[in-house]
Amino acid sequence: MNGYLCPVCSYRGLEHPPQDFTICPCCGTEFGLDDFAMFPEGTKRAWQELRRVWLENGGPWFDPGTPQPLGWDPLRQIWEEKDTLAVTSSVSDVSSSVLPKTITTFLTVPLRVEYA
Ligand SMILES: [Zn+2]
Repeated sequence: MNGYLCPVCSYRGLEHPPQDFTICPCCGTEFGLDDFAMFPEGTKRAWQELRRVWLENGGPWFDPGTPQPLGWDPLRQIWEEKDTLAVTSSVSDVSSSVLPKTITTFLTVPLRVEYA
């Protein structure tokens, strides 16, 4: 997968950087719009919230015109980029083999994102 990383859903297929109305085909976030309007104090806060809402809705694939990566799974996608996104939670030291147990944490614990 080559492309820019979506700071909301961790999809690595953005054709353009997550700004200037780029729309993520995975989570549907429109950058500069969705992440700007929600929280004037900063996009990082908005990305957290957008991620939470997206996951609460089951992490649906947004764009039917863009094929999903083979074996795509929204939680696994985020988990695999947890270091990049600096996602921290009480289960950050849990191996990915017990991924389903992290679902509740993803949904209930506000994820702290430090995005360089
Ligand atoms: Zn996304």
